[in-house]
Amino acid sequence: MLAARNLFVSLSGRAILHDVSMALEPGEVVGLLGPNGAGKSTLMRALSGLLPFSGTVELDGDNLAAMSDRARARHIAFLPQARAIAWPLSVENVVRLGRSPWRGLGALSQKDLAIVTDAMEAMDVAALADRPVTELSGGEQARVLAARAMAQTTPVLLADEPVSGLDPAHQMTMMAALRRLAGQRRAILVSLHDLTLAARWCDRLVVMAEGRIVAEGRPADIMTGERLRDVFGITAHIAHDECGLIFAPTGLAALEPKG
Ligand code: ADP
Ligand code: MG
Repeated sequence: MLAARNLFVSLSGRAILHDVSMALEPGEVVGLLGPNGAGKSTLMRALSGLLPFSGTVELDGDNLAAMSDRARARHIAFLPQARAIAWPLSVENVVRLGRSPWRGLGALSQKDLAIVTDAMEAMDVAALADRPVTELSGGEQARVLAARAMAQTTPVLLADEPVSGLDPAHQMTMMAALRRLAGQRRAILVSLHDLTLAARWCDRLVVMAEGRIVAEGRPADIMTGERLRDVFGITAHIAHDECGLIFAPTGLAALEPKG
């Protein structure tokens, strides 16, 4: 569905992404992991057409770079890491903005309104519908913006650290909502720092470091102690239970003798 090939991105004269190639298929939740500065946000911004890049990104065979902004917004929704909301719009009106690639400024249909309601319920913000978003907590605002991205009903959703700042229950609400979207044959790329959450909720993980993809595969195959040391610079207990892998960081790799 989405295929990125040989992406290179430079920002302010610095090479940031180096030869990144990856694909997303309908029905999968792919976790994007990597330390701060690895290039996760840059990759998502390039995939959503917000940054110039060299290489190609195709959506169902169509070249992303050749699409109009509106056409692209009907294909890819991007939930950015920064979540500043400047205007005191109501929660419902913010979520309604997710329909604008489909409706412009025209009136929303009954179907649009049903989509908006579903998205608010999926993100547990329906009870806040009439509140100004500027008065909500950071985590509540994050859920409102996630609902807006869901209301865009695109085949591809890129979510940049959508659970950061959320309480444990709403972290699971978020991951469950992403899984539900995948169940509707959408393709989801989600960057995460919580390795346990990533291993439990994602079908596949893509690991970045220093602007490159350094590993890709099923969580149990690629999230080894050696990789945690090499890529994330940590030592960790890795355990299994019926729900999947559990990672408990125990120290910094730099402080431990190699062995
Ligand atoms: P991640 O999301 O994995 O933490 P980013 O994609 O945000 O990483 O950043 C990757 C690298 O690109 C970092 O080293 C960051 O400093 C650099 N970078 C991001 N934006 C710019 C910019 N506008 N100009 C120069 N360097 C940038
Ligand atoms: Mg980032």
